Amino acid sequence: MPYHLATPHQKLRAMVTNRTLYWQQKGNQSIEKVMEIVHIAAEFAPVAKVGGLADMLFGLAKAHLEMKQHVEIILPKYATLNLAEVEDLKLTIPRIDSFFSGKQCHNSIWKAKVHGIALTLIETHDLCNFFKRESIYGFADDTDRFAYFAKAALEYLSFAKKNPDILHLHDWHAALAAFLYEGAAKKVLTIHNLAYEGKAPGDLLNKLGLKNTSKEMINLLEMGIIHSDFVTTVSPTYAKEILLEYTNHPLALLLQKNPSKFTGIVNGIDYAYWNPSQDPLLKFPFSSHDFSGKKKLQTHLRKTLALSQEERPIVSAITRLVPQKGPHLIKQALWRALELGGQCILIGSPDDERSFENFANLKRALDGSNSIYIELGFNENLAHLVYGASDLFLVPSIFEPCGLTQLIAMRYGALPLVRKTGGLADTVADGVNGFVFEEPSFEAILAAIDRAFDIWHHKRPLWETMRLNAMQGDHSWKKPAESYLELYQKLREFLCCSEQFQT
Ligand code: ADP
Repeated sequence: MPYHLATPHQKLRAMVTNRTLYWQQKGNQSIEKVMEIVHIAAEFAPVAKVGGLADMLFGLAKAHLEMKQHVEIILPKYATLNLAEVEDLKLTIPRIDSFFSGKQCHNSIWKAKVHGIALTLIETHDLCNFFKRESIYGFADDTDRFAYFAKAALEYLSFAKKNPDILHLHDWHAALAAFLYEGAAKKVLTIHNLAYEGKAPGDLLNKLGLKNTSKEMINLLEMGIIHSDFVTTVSPTYAKEILLEYTNHPLALLLQKNPSKFTGIVNGIDYAYWNPSQDPLLKFPFSSHDFSGKKKLQTHLRKTLALSQEERPIVSAITRLVPQKGPHLIKQALWRALELGGQCILIGSPDDERSFENFANLKRALDGSNSIYIELGFNENLAHLVYGASDLFLVPSIFEPCGLTQLIAMRYGALPLVRKTGGLADTVADGVNGFVFEEPSFEAILAAIDRAFDIWHHKRPLWETMRLNAMQGDHSWKKPAESYLELYQKLREFLCCSEQFQT
């Protein structure tokens, strides 16, 4: 027996629901179950990427594919899709009827492959055409758009007669599917950031053709939490913070009542995509065994960005410029690094006019300096070069569910300088593979910058040891993907978490 069913009752339930199980011979010894895993999400790298959610989904799906699992990603067919790495894109179901707010409309289903991962794209039409926009998020009707998408994803699964073992939902955009789904799959919801909840007027349920609610407002993430079999978040420390420190957050209180249905699994990064020795976007590859390419990249970057050709530490940040990321701390740290003789690079995506103006002013104030380069916007190609050429990488987040930039920076031999919170606390150890400060204050970050510069200038062997530690640490998807698979298996085999959710 590959697994043991605890009680006859569970056995019966498993027999009823195990209709989609596959069995895979592994060597001559053990037999492993292959899972049908369907993810529903708003982002998927590199096809539709705003931040870490996209990378997480790509990395996890690819790791599970390599572990011989069956994985499918369902994503809206945005007008802004990056099709560069999409293969075999074809229309497979021209019409599935749907509706929203009393209006008849229909969706088309497209299929493709991305690095071998099965991708399903839902194209919306008629009056429900929610995704032909110039960006993924940022519209007044975002909750309508993604609620419609979550419903459309389930309509597709039903139309195509799919019976997955696991329905893995990501963030508030997909959370409503936990509430709407009625099949046998186990539902896992991953919260990538509790700060984004998807609050919507109660009549959204009416628009979806569901029962009236007396509530003035509904919360899509809350509905997802309540109706999922299990909830994960993206690092153990962030999970602990939610359970122990978020004393005023209604959704955290909900998770605190159900601690056995909630855990944190740290994200990894895709080690094939983020690999400084094979990154096609790096003109000069390098590895932990041979840093000569990194030096050449620094020269190349200085030339490309019109920075002076001097051997000075390169300090950078690549981030969304939102309050969570500590933009005021980033600014202070950049000024200090310049004072200390460093060269600085910021690639920041502002999410509103105010944040744009704030950094546009900084850019203007430093105009003409050959020690700093600021780009406001999203630039994946330049990001690779900056990770590759940097010595020090700033992540002073006020809170950080996991954070991927510190992991990428370490892989590319740039020491992260982070605040001790969430996934940053789980992945960076002070004096070992980076620099850690505790308080979200100017004093604390400036002291950390001073320490880093002191080591760079006066204790170079220590810097080099830390850089090796950073590059050689394992932050791949291997272990986290195994943890997700174990969780899926436990859920599927009724070995955990079948108790009622307490509200
Ligand atoms: P979050 O998801 O909160 O934005 P993460 O650290 O989890 O933060 O992931 C950020 C991802 O997005 C990384 O891959 C990072 O390189 C990328 N990224 C963020 N901002 C930019 C930008 N302005 N240009 C290019 N890549 C960016």
